[in-house]
Amino acid sequence: MTALEFNRQLNLQAKSPAEREAIFANPGFCNFMTDHMVDICWSETGGWHRPRIQPYGPIEIEPAAAVLHYGQEIFEGLKAYRHADGSIWTFRPDANARRFQSSAARMALPELPVEYFLDSLKALISVDADWVPSAPETSLYLRPFMFGKEAFLGVRPAKKVAYYLIAGPAGAYFTSGAAPVSIWLSENYSRAGKGGTGAAKTGGNYAASLVAQNEAYANGCQQVLFLDSTTNSYIEELGGMNVVFVYKDGTLVTPLSDSILPGITRDSVLTLAEERGHTVHRRPVTIQEWRDGVESGDIVEVFACGTAAVITPIGELKAKDFTIGSTDTGPGELTMSLREELTDIQYGRRPDTHGWMYRLDG
Ligand SMILES: *Cc1c(COP(=O)(O)O)cnc(C)c1O
Repeated sequence: MTALEFNRQLNLQAKSPAEREAIFANPGFCNFMTDHMVDICWSETGGWHRPRIQPYGPIEIEPAAAVLHYGQEIFEGLKAYRHADGSIWTFRPDANARRFQSSAARMALPELPVEYFLDSLKALISVDADWVPSAPETSLYLRPFMFGKEAFLGVRPAKKVAYYLIAGPAGAYFTSGAAPVSIWLSENYSRAGKGGTGAAKTGGNYAASLVAQNEAYANGCQQVLFLDSTTNSYIEELGGMNVVFVYKDGTLVTPLSDSILPGITRDSVLTLAEERGHTVHRRPVTIQEWRDGVESGDIVEVFACGTAAVITPIGELKAKDFTIGSTDTGPGELTMSLREELTDIQYGRRPDTHGWMYRLDG
């Protein structure tokens, strides 16, 4: 497949270096977006066409566009990291590209070729390289997404689709950094069901999680944990992060279910743990196993993982009738050392022996 030729329209109101530095001083998580965005159109008759780089800004969409009514939408999330020599890299983008394809297939959207996905990342960096910050633990968060834009209120897959890539600088995701968080057990709401869209990265799963997330906030927790919707006993994941348990004997266990989003961070962390000699199990885990494991001392660490926050220690799980663990114990040792190993690879402080890093500039 040949590389895409992007039509370039540069932003004449691009932020000045001083304005950018002010944003970098307190980037939050994508509180500001870069100067440009990339888009590629798709139609049933024309396939992928009109790849463009243009100024970041509002997009025009018909009020009857499919996405606004039936939620035909998918997205991805990955980061661009600035290495010490100034070069710009991202982490396993081929895995994001393939997951974008499987999300597309589930949501009856066209599959963007992996090469186009990668081309779009490089195209954005070709104009917004200065937006990749260099302070420790900062990055440029890249957000590819796709939606049905055909104006049609009948229910069927859209015949016109748009792919976009936008980006914004990111500091640490959770304001508390790597301090252990409290999470809330959602007993009234599920994020996904059997045969549903839980394994696709689609906005609807997040929409379904928001009311439970509010419940978590109301109970003093930062995140919400979902159980399987059939039996309400198997652990699935947080609203946007996977969960991993560390046992006393060094075994790592992560829940297995076809309604969990297969995280690339989780896969990478478990790979690193296996290479250190840890046994890794991907199998169903009940909430009772967590309760019993913490009580008996068999489960010694629990963490959440995903691109945005990398690895976050989970201190306690609060439920209506019980609490597991506590946030007073501090982050787990293995949790923090896996976090360090992964971020060292991402920021180029440690050799990339897996071929995970992909250069975006030059
Ligand atoms: C994106 C996402 C994750 C984490 O995936 P990564 O590839 O590690 O970023 C986990 N759960 C959900 C629901 C997600 O949307």
